[in-house]
Amino acid sequence: ILLICIPQIANLCCCNDSVTTSKIQNHEMVSSLQTLALDGYLSMEDNEHAANDFGNIYHFPPLAILYPETVYDISRTIKHIYEMGSGSEFKVAARGHGHSLQGQAQANQGLVINMKSLQGKEMKVHGGEMPYVDVSGGELWINILHETLKHGLAPKSWTDYLYLTVGGTLSNAGISGQAFRHGPQINNVYQLQVVTGKGEILTCSKNQNSDLFYSGLGGLGQFGIITRARISLEPAKKMVKWIRVLYSKFSTFSTDQEYLISLENTFDYIEGFVIKNRSGLLNNWRSSFNPKDPFQVSQFNSDGKTLYCLEMAKYFNPDETEAMNHVESLLSALSYIPSTLFQSEVSFVEFLDRVHISSIKLREKGLWEVPHPWLNLLIPRSKIHHFAQEVFGKILLDSSNGPILIYPVNQSRWNSETSFVTPEEDVFYLVAFLSSAIPFSTGTHSLENILTQNKQILDFCHNAQLEIKQYLPFYSSQEEWRAHFGPRWELFAQRKSTYDPLALLAPGHRIFQKAS
Ligand code: FAD
Repeated sequence: ILLICIPQIANLCCCNDSVTTSKIQNHEMVSSLQTLALDGYLSMEDNEHAANDFGNIYHFPPLAILYPETVYDISRTIKHIYEMGSGSEFKVAARGHGHSLQGQAQANQGLVINMKSLQGKEMKVHGGEMPYVDVSGGELWINILHETLKHGLAPKSWTDYLYLTVGGTLSNAGISGQAFRHGPQINNVYQLQVVTGKGEILTCSKNQNSDLFYSGLGGLGQFGIITRARISLEPAKKMVKWIRVLYSKFSTFSTDQEYLISLENTFDYIEGFVIKNRSGLLNNWRSSFNPKDPFQVSQFNSDGKTLYCLEMAKYFNPDETEAMNHVESLLSALSYIPSTLFQSEVSFVEFLDRVHISSIKLREKGLWEVPHPWLNLLIPRSKIHHFAQEVFGKILLDSSNGPILIYPVNQSRWNSETSFVTPEEDVFYLVAFLSSAIPFSTGTHSLENILTQNKQILDFCHNAQLEIKQYLPFYSSQEEWRAHFGPRWELFAQRKSTYDPLALLAPGHRIFQKAS
């Protein structure tokens, strides 16, 4: 009922005898869960919100939501389902902040575990030579930022948006402009506490239960529920020099990006984005906008042309002059359009929390809760020019439907033992099409049109053999998942049978069973 049935996803609506039988079994399972002694509670009503996510395209309602008070609530519940569950279709999804795109944190007619119930419990910062913070898997990164700053410390690797949970981003990767130097968030974790698909509570790290540790990082929630994480920290600076510059040629833009990420002593954050088909930019930007404000550059018109914006940030303390001299010398080696240097100084928190401001503005205009058919790709460096030429030059003829991020990272900073798979080159690019669809629109900005465009991009990558990987991947068949993992599929499947033998967990990815 809640599923928006458009052709690409209509095959997820089904109704037959086996579904009816499993629904009865699922109701019996929920009744039996009600007999468990829990510190938290189970909710059987008003659960519609758990059938929604940021993507706002797939909607699968659960039968029940667990609001755990302790890790034991999660362990008892999963153990019970595991012991009762052989042959049943009853599935369990951990829900962090529900910012998935295609129902990945949903469990159709199953159980959703509301991880945010564990938030705030025992967030402990430890100083010393290798500082870290112990947090709950349901903690939001924004809260971790505020807590660790009280000790003059902060995590090293971030996402662009901080209202996401630790369990949610560590199940994917957690990639932002710091990943070129520190790797993604999954590379900056010392230890996890995990409840497996059998209900066991295990602590794991690179030295203890290491197979489970690496399985869980980037593991799409397939092997267990992350209930706690130990996150590596570094001394935090107070201020950020935030800079944006523009390019008209992709090759010059990417050469500069790759140059910056190759340096040992460089910016702390490096990203970039594409400005597509806006008019008047190069003529009017001086009069229309304050060139000191990097926020404004994304609003500019580009005279119908495609422009590329390189975004950089340097962290510093107010008394340091050396950092600013270094910024000058880094900028002097770049080949951006000279009149397009936008820079400002903001606090460390303002910089890291920058997307929150946009989210508030979009919410006010009713544009946050629209469908988000996002497409995130990882593209090997050797193929990025072919990709840019075809996609930015031909496929995206109209103006884009949202920001398009593009920046390179160094593969050497990614730990190859985690479940996450990357392209096999020393440098690869993250390209993120962060589209928003206008509800009930039938034109360029319609959901159907954007999905068709996404498919065109994927078909091009496939036909041109660009050897890309999807980030936050979305596939509807196991065939596609096998292709995604390539030679690592066997290990992934073997780990699934070890830690979640009944395939109870994270059904929304549709890797080991259908979502409905
Ligand atoms: P949910 O959507 O709740 O869950 C995601 C998946 O993880 C589900 O499969 C769920 O079952 C599983 N899961 C959740 N909690 C746990 C747990 N404790 N243990 C095990 N599995 C769990 N990603 C980036 O890498 N970089 C970015 O810069 C970035 N920016 C974003 C900006 C916005 C506005 C949005 C909406 C998303 C962004 N993302 C980014 C993607 C984001 O990292 C993922 O969508 C992430 O999964 C969202 O976290 P969440 O807490 O909402 O997870």
